[in-house]
Amino acid sequence: MKRIAVIGGGLAGLTSATILARSGHHVTLFEQSAHVGGKLGYAQFDGCTFDLGPSLLTMPFVLDEFFRRAGTTLAAELQLVEVTPGCQYRWTDGTVLDVPSDVYGFSEAIARMSPVDGDAVRRYFDHARRVYEATKDIFIFSPFRGLRELVSPANLRLLPMWRTMRFTQTLHALHAEYFRDPRVIQLFDRFATYNGSSPYRAPATLMVIPYVEAAFGAWYPLGGMRSIANAYRAVAERAGVQIRCSTPVRSIRTQRGIAVGVELHDASFFEADHIVSNIDVHVTNTMLLGHDRPHPRDPSTSGVVIVASVDAAADPSLRHHTVCFSSDYRREFRQLETSLPDAPTIYLSRSVHSDPSQAVAGRENWFLLLNAPPTGMMGDRGHWQAQAPTIASRTFEQLAAYGLRPNVRQMQVLTPDDFATRWGAWGGSIYGSASNNMMSAFLRQPAQSSKVKNLWYAGGTAHPGGGIPLVTISGMLAADAIARTRHPVTLTY
Ligand SMILES: Cc1cc2nc3c(=O)[nH]c(=O)nc-3n(C[C@H](O)[C@H](O)[C@H](O)COP(=O)(O)OP(=O)(O)OC[C@H]3O[C@@H](n4cnc5c(N)ncnc54)[C@H](O)[C@@H]3O)c2cc1C
Repeated sequence: MKRIAVIGGGLAGLTSATILARSGHHVTLFEQSAHVGGKLGYAQFDGCTFDLGPSLLTMPFVLDEFFRRAGTTLAAELQLVEVTPGCQYRWTDGTVLDVPSDVYGFSEAIARMSPVDGDAVRRYFDHARRVYEATKDIFIFSPFRGLRELVSPANLRLLPMWRTMRFTQTLHALHAEYFRDPRVIQLFDRFATYNGSSPYRAPATLMVIPYVEAAFGAWYPLGGMRSIANAYRAVAERAGVQIRCSTPVRSIRTQRGIAVGVELHDASFFEADHIVSNIDVHVTNTMLLGHDRPHPRDPSTSGVVIVASVDAAADPSLRHHTVCFSSDYRREFRQLETSLPDAPTIYLSRSVHSDPSQAVAGRENWFLLLNAPPTGMMGDRGHWQAQAPTIASRTFEQLAAYGLRPNVRQMQVLTPDDFATRWGAWGGSIYGSASNNMMSAFLRQPAQSSKVKNLWYAGGTAHPGGGIPLVTISGMLAADAIARTRHPVTLTY
């Protein structure tokens, strides 16, 4: 039985902590803010409740696996509803398209808008299914050891699939090969943003993202996305994890290259045999360990979130999720490299559509998300704070081009600086590192630190990446890696 310190109460930290506690270890989790859940934050005003982070749950079977390992089930802990249609898409030419989240319904919907592309969607999903089946165990569900994975005998079976996986083609180029209608190409290109990447740079292998949503559905937990964090917290506490909120970790103490404990904000020391860092890998290495490291080369996008209470029935045809596409996607991503695009794509989520408990009668809880560059590329905090009101009013003006003219009652705006300061995300990056080149997946931090013994990483900046299901996997992988270390390194004094 070991003493384990987990730094950060995001979903990955809670996952690792729970599994380790259920294996009999003494686990203490330190969270800097007053609540656990990390990016699954929420706000309440004007009779509405708003999720401030994720709005969509995919791959629910991953959560079920975690809950089963915690001695319960997904069905017992959360009430999920499938969101139908999965998403509505709007263009400035007036097109409105509802797209279900299943392969058949997806292709039927596309065929109605663009008959020539209906069959292509089925062929595309078949292609993506083969890539997902071939790669999932290597890139998602198993520990990853970088490039060495590709030459491991177990993975050599991938070699004949090399051309199918399209590592060297961009996602946009693949879509332009499959589809004729520019709106269909843009609709599929958008899935690169699910992990903060650009479709014009990310490898076509990311075709697995739309496939996963079409194959396993788009889900929402009644009570809001934060109920996922509440459920993770509940199982962690039942497993015996000591959760210490409002307790920032100031540094990780090492002796002769071995992690021996954490120093807290009040300068007290907590001794531990193992440390799991659930916070940004770069922040862990530079700020908690004091290592000199270059800034991440290709952080994922950040975002501007606007949550607003609006009068109900702004448009009765609106769905739970709506994407209002910009008229020049390539230009938008070019601008995103350095600044906020001048006419960005706007994502709108109104969970009240699936869950009336999220707003009082006569109101709707609107969540708007614009992609934004990480804050390091945009200047200082003052810049974002000064810009926030202008960005918000411009966004609502822009919505009129899609037929949306809500009567806004009250609103709150979060900028990349808020993501950086609230959750310790480097540059306010939402998903860790982007997948903007074919090597990205190989460069992600594995669970085990190669520099400091008994230090482990779990979370969106570690393998297999960001998003609720993936960080849950990351938490399980870190816990399993520690369990495999039968004889952790200890110091003899
Ligand atoms: C706007 C937005 C939209 C998103 N949309 C989706 C979506 O629709 N679907 C989806 O699946 N995912 C989405 N995501 C991504 C998803 O939320 C994240 O990938 C995931 O929640 C990250 O979990 P994590 O375990 O890495 O920890 P985080 O959520 O990053 O939590 C880390 C925790 O560590 C704490 N911490 C930091 N420093 C310290 C310290 N020194 N001491 C103690 N504690 C510390 C922080 O306070 C925080 O609680 C979205 C994220 C955002 C921000």
